[in-house]
Amino acid sequence: MSIKNNLLKILDDLPQDVSLVAVSKTKTKEEIMEAYEAGQRIFGENKIQEMVLKWSELPKDIEWHMIGHVQRNKVKYMGEFVSLIHSVDSLKLLKEINKQGIKNNRKINCLLQMHIAEEQTKFGLDEGELLELIDSAEFGNLKNITVQGLMGMATFTDDEEQIRKEFAYLSSIYLKIKNNIPGINVLSMGMSGDYKIAIQEGSTMVRIGSSIFGVRNK
Ligand SMILES: *Cc1c(COP(=O)(O)O)cnc(C)c1O
Repeated sequence: MSIKNNLLKILDDLPQDVSLVAVSKTKTKEEIMEAYEAGQRIFGENKIQEMVLKWSELPKDIEWHMIGHVQRNKVKYMGEFVSLIHSVDSLKLLKEINKQGIKNNRKINCLLQMHIAEEQTKFGLDEGELLELIDSAEFGNLKNITVQGLMGMATFTDDEEQIRKEFAYLSSIYLKIKNNIPGINVLSMGMSGDYKIAIQEGSTMVRIGSSIFGVRNK
């Protein structure tokens, strides 16, 4: 199957109100352009330098999403153009993103990443940390960021019930804070292996790489 066919098949599967981030990390410009020619405009990367390079060389109507762990000292490289940062997991990082928003005279869209998996290696906030962050006075003063919602990754396992339980938990937190923060409307959950479960549990945005572009080498 070609990238185009893979993409069209997935788009056909997605409900109207679920958006697709085509995860293009490690993939070439040519591979990205194949998805672009088929109509895809949202691409996700997990390394800032790689995303900056692709942004500078590919069509300007692409929306670039940062989905990987972000180091504060690198936010400045993407402040001008990034359209959504999925992986914000601290107030310190949010303050740096706000600073880069001010510098670039724009509001930078963010999601707060939640830790829902069993693996300790995955990043993210727990529910208590999330509530503490959004209730803080400092958070309320950040005018150059817009928090649009939450992101999370389920445990890497074949146990579908566990994956479903983790997504359902994230979804319940999302619904709780949706009532308190205006403008919250994105729940980013689901990858190639688990996006169907994620959609059943309320995802509004899926991040799919290998099912579109094939397996990654690196
Ligand atoms: C790589 C990656 C994906 C896509 O994974 P696939 O299994 O290839 O679909 C989604 N989200 C994040 C955060 C990733 O790093």
